[in-house]
Order: sequence, then C-alpha cells, then structure tokens
Amino acid sequence: MPHVITQSCCSDGSCVYACPVNCIHPSPDEPGFATAEMLYIDPAACVDCGACVSACPVGAIAPETRLDPQQLPFVALNAAFYPDRAPDEKVPPTSKLAPVIEAPRVDSRSGRPLTVAVVGSGPAAMYAADELLTQRGVQVNVFEKLPTPYGLVRAGVAPDHQSTKRVTRLFDKVTRLPGFTFYLNVDVGTDLTHADLLTHHHAVLYAVGAPDDRRLDIEGMDLPGTGTATEMVAWINGHPDFSDLSIELSHERAVIIGNGNVALDVARILTTDPNTLARTDIADHALGALRDSKVTEVVIVARRGPAQSAFTLPELIGLTSTGEVVLDAADRDLVLRDLASVEDALTRNKLEVLSKLGDASAPATRPRIRLTYGLTPSRVIGTERAEGVEFTVTGTDEVRVLPAGAVLTSIGYRGKPIRDLPFDENAAVVPNDGGRVVDPASGHPVRGSYVAGWIKRGPTGFIGTNKSCAAQTVRNLVDDYNAGLLDDPVSKPAALERLVRSRRPDVVDAAGWQAIDAAEVARGGEDRPRRKFTAVADMLAAAAAAPAPPLRERLLAGLRR
Ligand code: NAP
Repeated sequence: MPHVITQSCCSDGSCVYACPVNCIHPSPDEPGFATAEMLYIDPAACVDCGACVSACPVGAIAPETRLDPQQLPFVALNAAFYPDRAPDEKVPPTSKLAPVIEAPRVDSRSGRPLTVAVVGSGPAAMYAADELLTQRGVQVNVFEKLPTPYGLVRAGVAPDHQSTKRVTRLFDKVTRLPGFTFYLNVDVGTDLTHADLLTHHHAVLYAVGAPDDRRLDIEGMDLPGTGTATEMVAWINGHPDFSDLSIELSHERAVIIGNGNVALDVARILTTDPNTLARTDIADHALGALRDSKVTEVVIVARRGPAQSAFTLPELIGLTSTGEVVLDAADRDLVLRDLASVEDALTRNKLEVLSKLGDASAPATRPRIRLTYGLTPSRVIGTERAEGVEFTVTGTDEVRVLPAGAVLTSIGYRGKPIRDLPFDENAAVVPNDGGRVVDPASGHPVRGSYVAGWIKRGPTGFIGTNKSCAAQTVRNLVDDYNAGLLDDPVSKPAALERLVRSRRPDVVDAAGWQAIDAAEVARGGEDRPRRKFTAVADMLAAAAAAPAPPLRERLLAGLRR
C-alpha cells in the first residue's frame, strides 16, 4: 500500500531526500516547491519502503492502510497531484534521482573556526543552526529573548496541532550537536548590540520572524472587544507577553476578518469542545476562558471570493473533519460560480470541499464556523465596546452589518526593524540578497550580517519552508567565510560567556531549557503533553533547578577562561 502525506505536512522536504525512488513532489529543486500547500506522494511510484516516515519531523506520513478516518481525504489529494492513472497502475522509478542536499563546505583556513551568532530560536534559526553544524568545528551561539526556545512552534502553532509541534524533537537534537550553545533570556538589541555580537562572531544571522501583526486601519479597531488573531494565538499558547490579554467571549458571535490559516486556527479553537482542548498544551488561562465562553458562531469573513481563499486545502480538510463548518445560500452560490470557471486543479479541489459544506440555515447543534465572502470591512460599530462590524459588499456601496462581541483581524504578520540593520518598511523585511543583508543606499552587502525566515522573505509558507530558506542563507554565509570576507572574532570564546553573564545574569542555557521542559511535561501529568509556564519568573525558577554541569565540563570551562 502506498504511503500518504497528511495535514501536518511541514514542507521541509526531508521526505524528498529520504525517498529512494523520487516519488515525492514538488521537490525543493522544482519550481512549485516554494508555493506548494503541501508535498504529495505518487501512489503509483511509491515502493512502500517507509523511509519518508522516518525522515518526516512531524509524523505527517503513514501507509494508506493506517490512516485515521479523518485523514482518508488525503489519499485522493496525494494522487490528484499526479496524472490520472488506473487504480492498480505502477510506474517505474524515474530516471531523475531525488535531489541531494548539498551541505555547505567550510574550507579550513588559518584563523578562527567559523563562529556564528543566530538571533531567534524559531524554525528558521534552528534549521540554520542545523545546517551550519553539519560542518565539523563550526560554533553556533543561538540567542533568544524568552527563556524558552522555538518561536512560533511553541507560541504560534495551535495547541490542537500537536503533531506539528513534534518538530521540536528535531530542534532538541540540534541543541545537542557539538558546537551548539543556547543563550536564552537574552534580548539582542537591549542586552547585547549587533556590534557586540560581531566582536565575538564571524557573522550574525537574524531569524527573528515577523513578530507584529498587520493592523486593519478602520474606525473602531480601538474599541474593547477588538483584537488580532495573532495576539489571540499567542494568548492561547501561553506566550508570556500576552497572558494578560482580555478576549471577549461573552457574546454569541465572534467575527474574524481575513481567511488565512491563522483565522482557521483561531476559529477552530473558539469552537472546539474545551474538554478536547484540555488534552493539549493550551495555556491554562485560555482553557479557563474558553470553558466560560458564550460563543456559538465564529464568522470568518473574506473580502474576495471563494477561489481566492487564503487558507490551504490541507487545513480546510482538517477543519471540516473535526468541526462544523457552514455556508449560507449566497456564499454557496459564490462557491458554485467560482467552481464553474476555475482552471487550476488545486483551487478546484478547494472549491469542491467548500461546495459540500453544511447549510447555515440548519439549526446549530454545537458551536460552529461560518465562512463568508466578498465583504470589505469598513468600521467596527459600538460605543463602549465592539457590537459588530459594518462591511460593504466588495466593489459596491451595499452595506452589510454583522453583530458580534469579538472582532478579530487576521490579516497577516509583519516584520519589525532590527536595531542597526536596514529595513524595508513596505515589505516589512530586512533588504537582502539570498539572505545577505544589503544596504539599500549603496547596494552592497552589510559585512557579517545575514537573515533567514520571515524577516528575510515575509510571513509566508510553513514551518519546513524555513529549511530551504535557511540553507540558502547558510550557503551564502559559508561562501563569504571561505572567500575571506568575514572578520575573525577579536575575543576568545569565554569572553562572550562573561559578557553575556555580565549583561544578563539570569541567562538560560540548554540545561536550563531542559529543566523548564521537564517541569512543564511533569505538570502536564497523564492527560496533557505539558502544562506551560506563562510567566517569565516561573520559567526562570524552573531553569534554576537545572542540575549543575558535570565536574569535567566545569573544569574544562575554567581552563578556557
Ligand atoms: P495570510 O495567509 O496571508 O492571510 C491573510 C488574510 O488577510 C487573507 O485572507 C487576506 O485577504 C486578508 N487581508 C489582508 N489585508 C486585508 C484587508 N485590508 N482587509 C481584509 N482582509 C485582508 O496570513 P495568515 O493567516 O496570518 O498566515 C500567515 C502564514 O502562516 C501563511 O503562509 C499561512 O499558511 C501560515 N500558517 C500556516 C498554518 C498551518 O499550516 N497550519 C497555520 C497558521 C499559519 P486577500 O487575500 O484578499 O489579501
């Protein structure tokens, strides 16, 4: 039986490299890879060896016979990527071999071994560290503002997507590679400057993501009851900066403006039975609030039509298999209209799933999600607090009002400037050429400065998209090192440790993170993967309980000083 890629596909392409018969596409060297919603296994070419299963960091691949019922639509979805074939047809292995990962080759040269500071510890940062540490002797120091690592995997992936969060096991392995050092709870830009880092490293690679959200500039967005879906995701996930967020859940309807995957995540969490969420790592404060929630309908509003839906098909399939999603009659007509004229197969598949959604006029039996299209938000109405949203039918003056107590915008993330680096305000990224930071005034690379992930390419793609993105940056960084374009650090490695401790005495190292991790997992007990700490003080207290390093390591560290 062939293997099948399912909803949690992270698109990092590890399966492609592991496959001996090149039956997983699009592969990272193919044109569609960067924009693909997921990767697909050709059922007629798969030899059922299971190599992809072991390679996948998020458990997204299974043999067809072992799929859960809600994963069955992915059998057809994988097959649909390939030409139509008879059900039992087998195709011979292609003559084209799967692409081979080309590790960056660090040339041995006089001077100090390549030493890189990576700022941020989310997927782009960890994939970059992994890529750099494929080379012996390279040193990577990862700096993270919070005492806990892994960025959006911890604070952005919805708690009911535990499979996706499994990628942290891969990242934990990276932290144990020789040459890797964590400096957690250290804010680059406040505790340390770019110049400080360049003094101690050949290069600084920023993988700080896009931490802000895009704001909708309409009247009323300052009223209580309004907010952004990205803030809500951080609140749900226990990000310490968002634990005090006030989320309005006392009205029966919540409106989400924008229909990307973040909107789907938030709508799903708002309508899922809290007893189900109680088996995840959702923050306690969010679980408590959701248990008291009066929300029975979440309306996801798009300004364009169904064919332009920003959510991906795998996420739509996942949503419809676990929750109730409905359309009203007018929106169903829009779906059918688009279906009649659509040309590309992927959009057709999406529209077909939409056309089968339930009818909004049927009585609701549990909290549900309604998708609606063609409405452009014009203002939030209300005096003391949000009472609803006024829209115009896109392209007309016709006004529609949706009463609601919570109004959340979900219109994308936005990068923010990094101190001492240039910034492109329009694209909200650091200007760069393949990850080399470029000074827009001179057009020249900024010596020793690199970017990867969302701050390099904008907030698009999936966790694994950052693997090839980081690999490109690392290749360019290593080329620059080999070409002698990077200055040797001026101080010894132990001087960095002293500097960080002098500026940030409560820096957390890998052992500290392991202690936080273990404490959270223990707090989760039998029923939950972990119960997160949501206050920095509690994280630091748990980190302080980390066992002291063995005597041998302490002696070696003393000798290095
Ligand atoms: P997104 O996919 O870029 O969607 C943004 C939405 O906001 C679109 O519907 C867009 O509509 C709408 N929008 C933008 N400006 C607007 C305006 N002024 N008025 C009304 N609507 C407006 O953003 P996202 O949902 O934040 O996702 C970011 C990235 O993370 C995506 O690549 C996503 O796939 C990824 N992600 C993936 C997962 C997952 O795989 N499970 C989960 C979360 C996020 P238009 O199309 O009309 O501009």
